[in-house]
Amino acid sequence: MIRLFQAALAFVGLLALSACADESASEGVPVTGEINIYSSRHYDTDLALYEDFTKATGIKVNRIEADADALIERIAAEGEFSPADLLITVDAGRLWRAEEAGILSPVDSKILEERIPANLRDPQKRWFALSTRARIIIYNKAKGKPAGLDTYEGLADPALKGRICMRSSSSVYNIALLSSMIVHDGPEKAGAWAKGVVANFARPPQGNDMSNIEAVAAGECDISLVNTYYLARFDTPDKRKVLDAIGIIFPNQASTGTHVNMSGAGVVKTAPNRANAILFLEYLSSESAQKYLANGNNEYPAAKGVAPTSAVEALGTFKADPLGAAEIGKNEARAVELYNAARWN
Ligand code: FE
Repeated sequence: MIRLFQAALAFVGLLALSACADESASEGVPVTGEINIYSSRHYDTDLALYEDFTKATGIKVNRIEADADALIERIAAEGEFSPADLLITVDAGRLWRAEEAGILSPVDSKILEERIPANLRDPQKRWFALSTRARIIIYNKAKGKPAGLDTYEGLADPALKGRICMRSSSSVYNIALLSSMIVHDGPEKAGAWAKGVVANFARPPQGNDMSNIEAVAAGECDISLVNTYYLARFDTPDKRKVLDAIGIIFPNQASTGTHVNMSGAGVVKTAPNRANAILFLEYLSSESAQKYLANGNNEYPAAKGVAPTSAVEALGTFKADPLGAAEIGKNEARAVELYNAARWN
């Protein structure tokens, strides 16, 4: 019986080889069993998505949740015996670190290539974005739009002295942003920018995007940088007052485009359930799953032609910086050094 199964597997393997560059799991090979997901996304709404997948396919979804870097290390340490099939994470830098750690393997899927735009997937097919978010400037509306402020670079203008509040530079959102500025402006200018912004702080870095939105709305400071999905969270009847007090600027529209970061997923090199992992990845790129992901956390769906929530749409359209994850990832260590030199805690 086992022999027969092995022979069948070898036959399927041969078929896959001869079919060559497409592993799209929906090509007809029946799938059963389970899938082990290592995820650093921690949104309750993701759980319903997993249940929906199980209902549709019969494949059981097992999850391990932890910080992305811990998951990457764990998969590397588990080596060929790792039960991990799919790594799901947030942040371009971490996707790049997963690439660098050699734990992901390329996936040839026409479905994924059709649905996910080229700049939102690894050119070597090791990961695919699931959703994106933009890092934008917010300001206190009552105090008026800061004159001439339409770029990240402009936040270092001495005219803004004492008006900016920010979260810590240890946030991956801030690290990825400075990394993109190193690529666009060069390390010297990027370092000078960090110093210039620090000189404009209204208070030492603190809190998270949510608390900085509240601080700007309350007039504790005038300007901050936050992710779009946090702002959209205030688009509810009870929090609407905060949102109404805030003006937004999509930075760098006349130059590099607004910095975006992403969440994404890749199939683990040693995946014991590779076909299931690919099927799940394709499922996550489907219109319904993309809508669900986007609605759950107010992110921009990565797949083409899928609209974000009305709260996100209300923020307006913008030109996004198309910078790839590798360029952002490679410069993150430098970004951390520059933040430290600028004493942006
Ligand atoms: Fe976040």
